[in-house]
Amino acid sequence: MTTPAPTRFTAIRRGIAHRCPSCGQSPLFRKYLKVVDSCAACGHPLGEYRADDGPAYFTILLMGHLVIAPMLFLQWIWKAPIWMVLPLTLVPLAGITLWTLPRVKGALVGLLYSLGTTGHHAPGSELDASEPTA
Ligand SMILES: [Zn+2]
Repeated sequence: MTTPAPTRFTAIRRGIAHRCPSCGQSPLFRKYLKVVDSCAACGHPLGEYRADDGPAYFTILLMGHLVIAPMLFLQWIWKAPIWMVLPLTLVPLAGITLWTLPRVKGALVGLLYSLGTTGHHAPGSELDASEPTA
């Protein structure tokens, strides 16, 4: 008897937690952002999912809207000397961004898993960006 496929929400949640979106048992990454070739627990080929630039794009989008924009409402940022503002804002911002990026990548891998696509496009398909061969 096979276990039912997880819901889209469960797959994304498992990806955010750095777990295999299919079974939730095994780690999703073998390095900071490097997805394992296959799940050690269920054998699902996790290395096939291509998030490409998606994690970076969504991390920048999140940081810009949820951290940087609200930070600009802090009055001390506009009044304090620049030599004090830059390290006090950029260092935590870099830390938050580096913490967020693998979670966003995990979420995207979970989303690709739940959609049943790997992010690859078949050569010659409508979404294939390469030049057609004559
Ligand atoms: Zn698994």
